[in-house]
Amino acid sequence: MAGVNAEASAARIAQDVRSGARTASATTREALDLARRDPYHAIISINESAERDAAAVDAIVAAGHDPGPLAGAPVIIKDNLCLTGTRTTAGSRALENFVSPYTATSVRLLQAAGAVIVAKANCDEFAMGSSTENSAFGPTLNPWDVTRVPGGSSGGSAAAVAAGFTPLALGSDTGGSIRQPAAYTGVYGFKPTYGRASRYGLVAFASSLDQVGAFARSAEDLALTLDVICRHDPLDSTSLNVAPQFVAALRAPVKGLRVAIVTEALSAGNTPGVSGALEAARSTLVGLGVILSEVSLPALDSAIAAYYLVACAEASSNLARFDGLIYSSRAPEQPGEDWNSLVMRSRALAFGPEVKRRVLLGTYALSSGYYDAYYSKALRARALIARQFTQAFGACDALLMPTTPTPAFRLNEKTSDPLAMYLNDIDTVPVNLAGLPGLHVPFGFEEDGAYSASGGLPVGVQLIAPALCDERLITLAAALERATGGAFLRVAAPVAATGS
Ligand code: GLN
Repeated sequence: MAGVNAEASAARIAQDVRSGARTASATTREALDLARRDPYHAIISINESAERDAAAVDAIVAAGHDPGPLAGAPVIIKDNLCLTGTRTTAGSRALENFVSPYTATSVRLLQAAGAVIVAKANCDEFAMGSSTENSAFGPTLNPWDVTRVPGGSSGGSAAAVAAGFTPLALGSDTGGSIRQPAAYTGVYGFKPTYGRASRYGLVAFASSLDQVGAFARSAEDLALTLDVICRHDPLDSTSLNVAPQFVAALRAPVKGLRVAIVTEALSAGNTPGVSGALEAARSTLVGLGVILSEVSLPALDSAIAAYYLVACAEASSNLARFDGLIYSSRAPEQPGEDWNSLVMRSRALAFGPEVKRRVLLGTYALSSGYYDAYYSKALRARALIARQFTQAFGACDALLMPTTPTPAFRLNEKTSDPLAMYLNDIDTVPVNLAGLPGLHVPFGFEEDGAYSASGGLPVGVQLIAPALCDERLITLAAALERATGGAFLRVAAPVAATGS
């Protein structure tokens, strides 16, 4: 049996737990059961204290108190987020045996709102990748089609929500790692404005781009979660102090809002399903009284190059701490060996090929003699992209473009061609470079090379808002969801359907 979690929203579960119609403990056991049977390798480890945490939520209800807006809602978190007492591998051998001594702020806030963390999800090593195939622990499979990738790097979180293990998951998005896997698995994926969600307790990849965000199967669940995690955190120096208004935004009017389609994203080799989703979303928005236009952002041409230079440069610096001496696993020591040799051998053993490639690229781009030609130039391109977004928002309230040019690709299709893998991120990285909020909205399927409203591989659209206008994305998504009756938000394949 698929269990109630496969169908129930976090909002529904929280309502039932608060009213006593169900317990957090029973809900957690169901989610744990689904996560343990996981046929997609979405899960890396189970949170062994989940049942204890759920019992604590039930005790709060029994005492007549309110455990919070996410009371008893089971949540899965990406394995690059720390949770006290659990392993946090970030998909790397380097951290295979690292047990978090503290909890990430976003996770702590979820727990304080009554949510129960049931498991930690697979991801590309140090969040570097677009398919979850770079995980040192093996790839995650897409629940819609197990011969395909779920996207990445938060592929495990996306697959878990798509498969109905839990209604919610946390991920991180440095260049698309929430929105792209959301697109490949047919769920919402939200990346907040840089600074709205704390990065404290997130394993750093590229600190000026990294942002924690959420996956959900309803706009309401997304809003509930964002109201909890988008809080000021004194433990993150880049954290902003802006009061979240996501639940309030669910019912805000959309009539008269101005949405512009990004011209460059129309000519980027989108498949018929992706183009069809864009057209379907566009006409639905028009039907809701939204004013549609088109805007050109020519600087997006340099986004992939700028992103991979900035991200690799920051990664090479951030990952320098994993030396096998203080942090990360150490190679077996050899008698009389000096530090340099031990560090080199430890890093060679600990990191996978993609991480090594990026550390080398980033170190090169930052080295004297090349810094101006690569890193400085990338920063200039980044500033230009941000400026063009700002100009575009002078004449519209939000942008509409694809999240990815294609639906989920096949396992191993791009593993031998890193550039093809990088180019896949063309529609997502500009948003991170500019620090903007972005949301993937599921909007149909691609079947037999054509758009379909009913079945096939999930496709959808990306909505982008000006910095700090994150709530507007929830308003638009909720309106689209109401207009379509939530038709594009189905659970992919309940675990029951695959046996056991
Ligand atoms: N796919 C992009 C990369 O490989 C983005 C990763 C991310 O957002 N963490 O860098």
